[in-house]
Amino acid sequence: MASPGESFLPPPCPRCSKALPPPLRTDGSLTGRWPHFPFCSDRCRLLDLGAWLTGDYVIPGEPLAHDEQIDP
Ligand SMILES: [Zn+2]
Repeated sequence: MASPGESFLPPPCPRCSKALPPPLRTDGSLTGRWPHFPFCSDRCRLLDLGAWLTGDYVIPGEPLAHDEQIDP
């Protein structure tokens, strides 16, 4: 039987959908926690934060006035 918590796998990174790499210390041992959880890296965390700040995430229901040219 595995000790509690050892088999825990976090969900994939919400930013790039990649699996979170196992958090390893420099000596190769597991730290037991993901430093950038729920993101795979600090970069993704910052990208996600930046997306919110720049309005990349738009609340659904507010149609954008983009000119969609639909040719039959
Ligand atoms: Zn990521």
